[in-house]
Amino acid sequence: MENSCLFCKIINGEIPANNVFEDEEILAFHDINPEAPLHFLVIPKKHISGPGAVTATDQQLIGKLMQKGAELAKESGFDDFRFVVNNGAKAGQTVFHFHLHVLGGRALTWPPG
Ligand code: AMP
Ligand code: ZN
Repeated sequence: MENSCLFCKIINGEIPANNVFEDEEILAFHDINPEAPLHFLVIPKKHISGPGAVTATDQQLIGKLMQKGAELAKESGFDDFRFVVNNGAKAGQTVFHFHLHVLGGRALTWPPG
């Protein structure tokens, strides 16, 4: 828990979110500014600032984010989807708590901007 972290505040209920899934380790919620018909975020409840801060201790947890993200996308009827994880401001990271973007429901181009 980081006092100044937006996503830690969502985890502890200080800031509301539109939840998709929650268990003791992870939380999934709809992105407030969706970039596609399907756009939710999957985050660890443990504060990790981003993918660059993941340690060997977190391997199971980070793997679980991807497994759950895919399961939730498919359950919502989206077999085609994209995972995005930004690290650092120049890569587009604006919230410094690890989050897996799950995007789908429209044709997605490559390369990303
Ligand atoms: P990133 O730019 O990769 O750090 O992604 C941060 C994402 O968090 C953006 O897509 C924002 O739209 C989203 N976001 C910011 N604040 C909230 C919030 N209160 N609830 C849900 N999503 C949020
Ligand atoms: Zn946090």
